[in-house]
Amino acid sequence: QQVLAGKVAFIQGGSRGIGAAIARRLARDGAAVALTYMSSPDKAQQVVKEIVDAGGRALAIQADSSTPDAIRTAIDQAAATFGRIDILVNNAGVLALGAVDELTMEDFDRTIAVNVRSVFVGVQQAVRHMGDGGRIITIGSTNADRMPFAGGSIYAMSKSAIVGLTKGLARDLGPRGITVNNVQPGPVDTDMNPADSDFADGLRGLMAINRYGQADEIASFVAYLAGPEAAYITGASLMVDGGFSA
Ligand code: NDP
Repeated sequence: QQVLAGKVAFIQGGSRGIGAAIARRLARDGAAVALTYMSSPDKAQQVVKEIVDAGGRALAIQADSSTPDAIRTAIDQAAATFGRIDILVNNAGVLALGAVDELTMEDFDRTIAVNVRSVFVGVQQAVRHMGDGGRIITIGSTNADRMPFAGGSIYAMSKSAIVGLTKGLARDLGPRGITVNNVQPGPVDTDMNPADSDFADGLRGLMAINRYGQADEIASFVAYLAGPEAAYITGASLMVDGGFSA
């Protein structure tokens, strides 16, 4: 029995890393999956191919999450293809690291546009296609709570913004039976944060579990939140971080 059979998921940023793992996992659990990408068409199509080869339904759409119109168009295309949207996953994110005198206004504005505004816009657009029992899940970061190294000011700000946004949206959408949650990973081995970097050695020392997470370990929790058993969880920011914030 596939727990998400008959459901439709829309994932902002599903071509690589955590987003690709979420796409594969939700598809494995039975959902039809529409995923967006910006600059990795081949990787996005590869994720689609894997899902389709396994008997699932999937669609990749190019849409820059920093552009509200692109998000709206992609969500409308997904809803037209699969009939509606039951699960929205906001995963697209960027990491601009630098000391306060190094980061630029462009870094600031792009981080807010991709990591924060895209979540608001995605929710605004997706709920037009979402019925009772809908699920909204954003990938925040443990850095919303703990930022133990220099250079992460803008990134931490953007992920902290998701904490409040999630609470407010949960209040708006609770009466419609839609839950809104924020999954906050710790270090996960992806292109954004490779486990074999010098930076990674420093992070490992800050964790209760002394290793990087795998993208699948985030995807499994997202799948739980997307499923029927998680109907009483909303407005929450939930750590999956190997004890980074403990
Ligand atoms: P990656 O850099 O490995 O992948 C980022 C994904 O987001 C890609 O699919 C990319 O698409 C997409 N994306 C980026 N910018 C845009 C955009 N403007 N429009 C559409 N899609 C976009 O990152 P991770 O998988 O590591 O991170 C995913 C999320 O998890 C992010 O929100 C990140 O902040 C968060 N996170 C990651 C942690 C980690 O240690 N890895 C820890 C905590 C949180 P494309 O391939 O087309 O560029």
